[in-house]
Amino acid sequence: MKKLLQKTISLFLSALMILTVAPAFALAAENDVAIPEIIIEKTSETQTELVLTVKLGNSLLNCLDMQIASSESLELTAIDILCNGLSSFNVDNGKISITNSDGIVAPADVAVYTFEKLSTAGVEADDITVTILTCYIEADDPEDAGADVTDETVVVNALPEEHAHVAGTEWDETKAPTCGEVGTEVLYCTECGEIADSRDVPTTEHINTTVETTEPTCTEDGVEKVYCNDCEQYVSEKTLEKTGHVDTHVEEKAPTCTESGYRKVVCACGEIVEEETLEPTDHVGVTSEIKLPTCTEDGYEKTVCDCGEVASYTVLEKTGHLWIDDVKTPTCTEDGYIRKYCPACKAVEGTQTLTKSGHSWSDWSTVKAPTYSATGIERRICGGCGTDEERSVPKLVAEVSQLVLDTTETTMNFRGTLRLFLSVLPEEAAYSADIVWSSSDENVATVNENGEVYAANLGTATITASTADGSVVATCEVTVKYSFLQWIIVYILFGWIWYI
Ligand SMILES: [Zn+2]
Ligand SMILES: [Zn+2]
Ligand SMILES: [Zn+2]
Ligand SMILES: [Zn+2]
Ligand SMILES: [Zn+2]
Ligand SMILES: [Zn+2]
Repeated sequence: MKKLLQKTISLFLSALMILTVAPAFALAAENDVAIPEIIIEKTSETQTELVLTVKLGNSLLNCLDMQIASSESLELTAIDILCNGLSSFNVDNGKISITNSDGIVAPADVAVYTFEKLSTAGVEADDITVTILTCYIEADDPEDAGADVTDETVVVNALPEEHAHVAGTEWDETKAPTCGEVGTEVLYCTECGEIADSRDVPTTEHINTTVETTEPTCTEDGVEKVYCNDCEQYVSEKTLEKTGHVDTHVEEKAPTCTESGYRKVVCACGEIVEEETLEPTDHVGVTSEIKLPTCTEDGYEKTVCDCGEVASYTVLEKTGHLWIDDVKTPTCTEDGYIRKYCPACKAVEGTQTLTKSGHSWSDWSTVKAPTYSATGIERRICGGCGTDEERSVPKLVAEVSQLVLDTTETTMNFRGTLRLFLSVLPEEAAYSADIVWSSSDENVATVNENGEVYAANLGTATITASTADGSVVATCEVTVKYSFLQWIIVYILFGWIWYI
């Protein structure tokens, strides 16, 4: 339909040319010979067919012999002669020959050449070669008539120098896209059928995929790769950021006073993320020991840690002596002194002796006067210290004037005892009298200081009591003999026993 329209327009234009050119030609034909113009015009081109029309643009020809040769991509299939007269054509070599005694009057369609296209390449001017073999112009002047004007014939080739594709509007997919490769779609040239334009068709989604994941670690990135089983390639790769040390725990060792401790943050992967040394703690003074300072020596206060180290040690400064004056007043019997004395340490310095004074006795006074039977007592008092002192006063002494024994003559049994009682005269002399007892024969009888007589053997002895100076005497004659019983024993029975 479109092509038909083009043809119609073409014909219409040709008609216009006839109308405008005809008067000019009439003038030219009368006066001069016009140079013929042979126009080779592309009537239509499809993917398989090229149609050319040969036209006479001006002049008046009696005869036209011409040839159209084509490139190898075109094969002439038909020639139609359009004008009247004798004509012949040869499809094998593209020659046509037309003779018309009435003349071929321009403008005129001379012939139509139809070619089969052996390739879809667009036809260009180079593909066609036009050769004018013979051309006679009809002229009034006989000299001009029949002249060969081949050399002057103008050939207008209406084929474009280069074929410009006219792209269609419907895209044609020539290669379907897959998930791995882009596809192609094209626009064909509406004239030559050649591909006028082409573009990629985007790849399709990868559907049959497998995800391969390498998990990230604390220190190394992981990766997530997507493999397409259809196109057999990795189609995407994504880095999985390393996690950093996340799963951490704290390991701690408390420091002691002698050893440092530590605090570590350890990742589950084994790496130590953070490490800190904990300095040893101060010693804790638990036990305390105090030595008090004295006047002359420093003391100290120290605390000792459980570990044995001294945790703290404080010197307690010595105080120095607290000298005071110390006075002891001398008494009657003891020396005193003046000295410096430190009550804190009892130190003494610079002692001066204060000599004792001795008692200041009063005269003796009688407390109890002596008698013949008892001693008296005298006392004196020291005016200085009040001490008193007593002394005894001897008993009164009376001279012994007479000694009298309770018996002056007595008989005693062998081995018997007897107490002699002595009277001292005067009576008061008895308290002080010093009586001495004696026996004239101690083989016979002995006497003790109490006047007790023991009959030691048979015989006679005188027992004497006298004053110490012997001035007064009293005596008793003692005769010792056997008693009756003793006599019987000695002489009749067992007297021999005593002599064993
Ligand atoms: Zn084209
Ligand atoms: Zn794929
Ligand atoms: Zn880690
Ligand atoms: Zn300690
Ligand atoms: Zn002191
Ligand atoms: Zn005194």
